[in-house]
Formats: sequence, structure tokens, C-alpha cells
Amino acid sequence: MFQVEVPARALSPFVDLVGAERVEAVAREADATRAAVGPHTVWNVNSTAAGGGVAEIIRSLLRYSRGLGVEVRWLVIEGPPEFFAITKRLHNALHDNAGDGSPLGPEQAALYERVLADNFAEIERLVRPGDAVICHDPQTAGLIPHLRRLGERVVWRCHIGHEGPGIEADKGWAFLRQYLADVPIAVFTRSAFVPSWFPRAHAVTLPPNIDPFSVKNQWMPELSTRAVLAAVGLVEAGGDACCSVYVREDGATEEVVRRAEVIRLGGPPPWSAPLVVQISRWDRMKDHAGVLAGFARLLEQPPDFGVELVLAGPSHGGVADDPEGPEVLCEVERAWRALPERVRRRVHIAQLPMTDPDENAAIVNALQRHAAVIVQKSLREGFGLTVTEAMWKRRPIVASAVGGIQDQIRDGVEGLLVRDPTDPGETADAIRRILASPDVGARMGDAAYERVRERYLSISALERWGALVQLLYA
Ligand code: UDP
Repeated sequence: MFQVEVPARALSPFVDLVGAERVEAVAREADATRAAVGPHTVWNVNSTAAGGGVAEIIRSLLRYSRGLGVEVRWLVIEGPPEFFAITKRLHNALHDNAGDGSPLGPEQAALYERVLADNFAEIERLVRPGDAVICHDPQTAGLIPHLRRLGERVVWRCHIGHEGPGIEADKGWAFLRQYLADVPIAVFTRSAFVPSWFPRAHAVTLPPNIDPFSVKNQWMPELSTRAVLAAVGLVEAGGDACCSVYVREDGATEEVVRRAEVIRLGGPPPWSAPLVVQISRWDRMKDHAGVLAGFARLLEQPPDFGVELVLAGPSHGGVADDPEGPEVLCEVERAWRALPERVRRRVHIAQLPMTDPDENAAIVNALQRHAAVIVQKSLREGFGLTVTEAMWKRRPIVASAVGGIQDQIRDGVEGLLVRDPTDPGETADAIRRILASPDVGARMGDAAYERVRERYLSISALERWGALVQLLYA
């Protein structure tokens, strides 16, 4: 287990985005939270410090809470590959997906509990009586009985889910249920994700959010965008490109220096080529093979707009709690190899460098800003942070009508929803519609920005978390 340090940040820049009234209300709520929490600490515990939506959410919540003077900290549990194979199986199950089909029986429960007991032995040394602990996702649910025994105030936050029952979802909940029996508050992304047996009075719904001032979402001028993408090898180096600079989380200016590892036939696309981009972990539920099939279908019919496809994700082993990544990447490469050469030439499968999380975030930022269309063709999705990030950058989006994406995007207003994500033709048609009518795409981009400004910025989460933490201390 290790602790992630997140420097405090002031909330004041939000005034320009949401107005002084909302910012002042959050500051007042923080006063009340500080008074309720007293000398105690609010801990977050999850299983990766980088590379997925949960890490993003914790980081943004921490920096502003600390800026408001509330003592919030972040612990990351560790475990052997067998542990993460089980938790990945659980992750898939809660999406009602069989994943690798491995059992979730007593043997797996014993291993899961042993690893969490080892982590708890370290947590126990840091967490003091009276502290509050927010455990994230199935990876940490087994810590709850230990924490409750110590008398800690505990919240379980579940970032994934499936609407209603399902064979796999039921298996996942059967495994986890015993650990959640005594949890006072559980936070779900949507009310449809609350399992039927969970007491409604203890369930809260809260959508995830993004930090508009993080490296990933900060404003990036076009010249820097171009230079960052050229430096990383995702567009051709241009004559007038300036330095590939971005502002780090600590405020220092830095250059992107590492290159992406890209599977492709030729070189990087020219700057002028419209890019269709999906950014996601190498996870079967992100349906990279389906994106390739949809893109191939798009190229079947003229005009093809000179479009190129970038499938981008973390570099090999870049996400600690996602053991299926390398295997899925191999499958994506195989699907690409099976395409006709004229399609393959237009596809770039990019592993983005993960050594420096700020650099990785700057690359994602640049890629999202340069994309002509952002695709998120997930088969299941709790809530797509990549969708919110693209909405904030006013990008036209084509996304599957699954899970939380249906709350994020209203079809035809903030983007286009694909009703049947298994139909490559529907995806191709939606992408074509946007490429053929840039005005329509720009209008949807503006609407998307507004929706995020109203609902999905970190300030919205702070508005809710203050009250939740106070409830724990009531
Ligand atoms: N992400 C990243 N680098 C990558 C790929 C993804 O930082 O190479 C980020 C992405 O920008 C987003 C998060 O990981 O913030 C993915 O969150 P999302 O909710 O879309 O999916 P999840 O990974 O949680 O299933």
C-alpha cells in the first residue's frame, strides 16, 4: 500500500466558469465540513494511482478539498496479479459481463480477503479512530468489515454498474454482498446501478466529474496541441510547430518528450487529416474491435474525408489494477491485421507513455482537442469520463447508448448515441454525419460544453461531498 500526495489547490478559478455564488456556497459548506470532521482525516482508498477514471476523480476531489482546508488523503492498495485477476473478474461481473469466466467461489474469496487483510494491516497504522474512509470499487470492498470493526466511518463508492439484474452481475454481487452488509453509505453513479437488495436509505447517487484545470483538461493552444502530438508521434512534425509545452500540476512548464509506441503501417497522419479518436484502457468492454469494424465500414463508401483512426490507451502494464490490458491490446492488433491494407493504412494503435502522469495527461488533452470526432463505443460503461473530457473540449462525440453515457449525452443534442453498439454500420453512419456537417458537430460541441459546465465539473461533486461527510459525523 502507498500514499499519493496531491497538492492543495484554490477553488477561486471556478468563479469565471460557474459564478461567485456557487463557489462561495461550496466554501461555506466546507466550513461546516471542517467543523464536523474536527481533527480527523477523510481517507480515500482505491487500487491505482493513474490510468483510469477513478484515479482522475479522486485526484480532483482531493486537491480542492485540501484547498478548502479539509484534510483528505489517498491510499492505494497493492496485491499480487492473482488478486487483480479476481477484482477484474468482479469489475466485469458488475457490468454483467463474464470477463475471463473464472470462478468467484470460496477459494477466490479467501485470496481476496487475505490480500485486503495484508493491506489493512498497513492502513491501520495510518488511520486514526474517528477518521472517515471512502473505499472505491470492488477492489477495496473487503476492507469495509475491518474498518467498521475499528469503528471508522465508512463510505463505499462504486463507479461501475449494470441496470437491473443479470447472471454475471448477480454473481459479482453475491461475492461482494457480505462485505457491504454494514456500510452506512454507498455511492453509486446512477440509481439504476443500485442492486435491488441494497437498502435504498443507505444509497446515494453521484455522477463522476472532471477538473477543468487539470493537465488533462486545461486550455491548450493549437500550436502546442500540434507540437505535443508531433513530439509523441501522432501527427506529422510541422514546420511552424512551437514547443510541446504544457503546465504541470505543480504549475511548472514542461515539454512532452516521450514517444508513443504506435502499431501502424506508415508514418503519423498529417495535421490536416481529420482524426476519429477513441481513448480508453485496453479493456474488451471498450470494444476496440467494434471501432475498427465501424471505421472500416466508414471507408467503404465515398467520400472518406481523408479520415484516419487513432485508438489510444495506456502503455503496456500502465494501469496497475487492469491485468487484462496486454492481452486485449494483442487482440486489437490481431483485429487490425485482419483488415484490408487500405483500411490498415489509416489506423494508428497508440500506447501512450505512462511514466509521467502529467505528460500522459497532456498527450490525452492534445489528442482530444485535435480529434474531429471522439468515439466511445463501449459495450458497457458506468460513466465515460473520456466522454465528459471530450464534451468539455467541445468535440463532437459518437458514443454507445449504454450505462451512464445515456445521462451524459442526449442524442442529437450533445453528441450522437449509437443505439446498437454491436452494429458497425450505425457507428459508421454517425461518424459520417458529423464529418459531413461540421456545423452540426460544432453546435453539439457547444451544447456539450454547457452541459459539463452545469453538471459535471469537480465543483458539482464538492457541493455533494461536503453534505455526505457531514452525515457521517452527525
Ligand atoms: N486515460 C488516460 N490515459 C490513457 C487512457 C485513458 O489518462 O492512456 C484516462 C482518460 O482520459 C479518462 C480515464 O482514463 O480520464 C478513463 O475513464 P473512463 O471513465 O472513460 O473509463 P474507465 O477507465 O474508468 O473504465
